Order: sequence, then structure tokens, then C-alpha cells
Amino acid sequence: MHKGLIVQKFGGSSVANVARIQNVARRVVSYKKKGCALVVVVSALGDTTDELIELANKINPEPSEREMDMLLSTGEQISVALLAMAIHKLGFEAISFTGAQVGIITDTSHTRARIIKINADKIKEELRKGRIVIVAGFQGVTLNQDITTLGRGGSDLTAVALAKELEASACEIYTDVEGIYTTDPRIEPKARKIAQITYEEMLEMASLGAQVMQARSIEVAKKFNVPIHVRSSFSEKPGTLIIKEVKRMEDVVVTGVTLNRNEAKFTICNVPDRPGVAAKIFKELSSGGINVDMIVQNVSHTRQTDISFTVNKTNTAKTMRIVKQAASKIGAGDILEDRDIARVSVVGVGMKSHPGVAATMFGALAKNKINIEMISTSDISISCIIQKKFAQEAVRALHEKFGLAK
Ligand code: ADP
Ligand code: ASP
Ligand code: MG
Repeated sequence: MHKGLIVQKFGGSSVANVARIQNVARRVVSYKKKGCALVVVVSALGDTTDELIELANKINPEPSEREMDMLLSTGEQISVALLAMAIHKLGFEAISFTGAQVGIITDTSHTRARIIKINADKIKEELRKGRIVIVAGFQGVTLNQDITTLGRGGSDLTAVALAKELEASACEIYTDVEGIYTTDPRIEPKARKIAQITYEEMLEMASLGAQVMQARSIEVAKKFNVPIHVRSSFSEKPGTLIIKEVKRMEDVVVTGVTLNRNEAKFTICNVPDRPGVAAKIFKELSSGGINVDMIVQNVSHTRQTDISFTVNKTNTAKTMRIVKQAASKIGAGDILEDRDIARVSVVGVGMKSHPGVAATMFGALAKNKINIEMISTSDISISCIIQKKFAQEAVRALHEKFGLAK
């Protein structure tokens, strides 16, 4: 472990405007003054990434993924340069780099690339010169020199991977909330800050929609045992530690409630009920690079059945095209698309030893007259697809029911 080396990551909202960039610069410099060596990862300013995606879709609803990466990586290139300038203004030495410049090598899966290795020599050399090193988050480069991005929220992954590679003594993720809460504090003001959470639970919460940390960054942190401190860039208060094991005084069944409004539901009607049909549909989707999430196939009474599944909303146009082709080949009926759905989930390792969580969850939704359209479970979570208009109400009801509220 490199004593005194800290990796700090600042998310988009922490660098959304000039005053906030200056705030980040002051915070970074305050650590430098304490004698720390610093590698600072930054996201694109505010909603830049969303705006770039919107712009691309106006030009072409199914843009090439390689060009998408060329476009999106520009966002982070702006913020690293501005932060370096802000630090210079305070009289300290800093130097900014793109992912490619600091040797973050990835595979070729554009828009969701995986890091293969990091050649950290350049960073180490600059640290030796006493400089603050600023790295563009969310991006890497293939062995072929093509720019890639690491999936939405990917700056978290850049930070964790660098902390691992540089054997940093701490990895701090600065954001616009004070840590990980029992649910999104913007949806439920009664949400409580969690002092410590395990990788396992954080990974589940992140995968199920708690956007505060990118799921893949937690996978990597878990694999290499990198402790993460999630905290606010606007306060000095301690945040949440994401670590391997957490000691709890009391039995907690449910740790958190999550919401995902980024999925769309597809239903293929009247699918012939014979072997190999589902395989055909989902094989075509996977060849098209579409990640299918929840799947439900109804029992058939008429030798025909409906199959429903969810995908990320960004993939709806492509999914519709692929499913239409597949449905006509296998002789299925209409295809319905519903973008007005939400997934609410409860997460907790306590579920492994406490029965009845599903019943309690369904009961709480029923009491609020919220219809459940699909259900899925894992070892440590239960998810329901509901209509989006009930999403906030559902989160609050579950948060209350499982005793998480302040
Ligand atoms: P950044 O720009 O810093 O990467 P994000 O927008 O990606 O920030 O993530 C922070 C947001 O995550 C918060 O503003 C909050 O609304 C949301 N969030 C969702 N679930 C949670 C949770 N369980 N705890 C804390 N924040 C959450
Ligand atoms: N700017 C990228 C995004 O919005 C990466 C990140 O913020 O972590 O997804
Ligand atoms: Mg984020």
C-alpha cells in the first residue's frame, strides 16, 4: 500500500459549474497541504453526458457505438482541464490526462468496455514530481487506439481501478449526497445514511438502480478488496464505508430499497409453445448486444403463450427491431412496448435467514393498491415491476414497512 496516496473521484454534480469546480480544487489542495499524494478522477460537468446522448440521438437514433464513445469521452476531457486550471490558480501543481494518456487499456466493447490493464507509469512519474494528477473518468483506450467508455457512471470504476493499481491508502467517492442511504434521499426524505455497507449489498443495490455507485465499480472493489468511502463534496461529514464485512448490533432484514425507472417492458404475444422458441428470441437479442433483464413466460393453455421481458430504455429502438424480426420468423403475434414501468426492489443479506420478506413486500404494495406486473428474486433481493406513476409511493411504502425510516 502506498501510504498517503489517495484517489478521489468527483461526480458530475460536484463539478457542475465554475463555483463547484473551484470548490473541488480547494478540497483537493487542502489534502495536498496535509502531505497526501493525490490522483483525482473527474466526471463530465453536470448533465453533459445526458446532453451529448440526446444530441447524438437527434442525428441518429441508433448511433455507432464507437462514435458514441468518441463523443461521450469529450465530456470528461473538459472537466479535467478546467480542474487543473482551478488548482493552478490556487498556486499548486496539477496535470490533467485522458484515460488513454494514463494507459487505461480496455477491451473493444464500446460503451461498456472492460478494463484489461492499467499502465500507471505516467501517473507515478507525475506523482514523484509532486504534482496532483487529474484523470478523466469513464474512459479508456483499446490496444488499437480506439477510445472507449466504461458504461454509465463509469468514473466510479476508473477511481476504484486506479486505487487498486496504485495501491492507494484510500478511495474516496465524492458526490451530491452524504453517503449511501437506505433509499434515494431525493425520493424519500426520511431515508437514513448507512455508516457501513458490505460489497455484496452495495453491488445488489447498485445493480437494482441505486445510481449513487456504478455496479461494476463495486464488482472490482469486491474482487480486489478496495475499501470505498462515499461522501459529500459539499461537507466534511464522514460518509459511508463500503467494505467486506460489517458488524451489526441488531438483526437487519432489509438494508435498502431501490428504484429503477430506466427499464422498458416488451411483451411478445401469442408465441408458439414449443421447444427452442425462447432460445431463438433471446439469442438474437444477445447477438445484438442487448442485455435482457427480467423475463416472464406465462403458462400456456392454448399452445400459445406471452413472453415479457425488460431491457434498458436506451435499447428500446434496437430491441423492437430485433424482436419484430424474430417474432415474424417464429410466427408469434403482436409486440407490446411499455416505457412507463418501474422496478422497485428491497435488498438485504438478512433475507437469507428471514422468511416472509416477499409476503411483506407484496402486502405493502397491495395495501397501497399498486399492481405487480412482474416479480424476480435473488438470494438477497426481491424486485417487482409496477407502473411508473406509483414508483415513489411504492418506495416510500416499502421503506416504511421494513422499518428503515428515520
Ligand atoms: P455523481 O454525479 O456524483 O456520480 P450520481 O448522480 O451518479 O452522482 O449519484 C448520486 C445520486 O444517487 C444522488 O443524488 C441520489 O439521488 C441517488 N441515489 C439513489 N439511490 C441512493 C442511495 N441509496 N443512497 C444515496 N444516493 C442515492
Ligand atoms: N459522465 C459519465 C456518466 O454520466 C460517467 C460518470 O459520471 O461517472 O455516466
Ligand atoms: Mg455517478
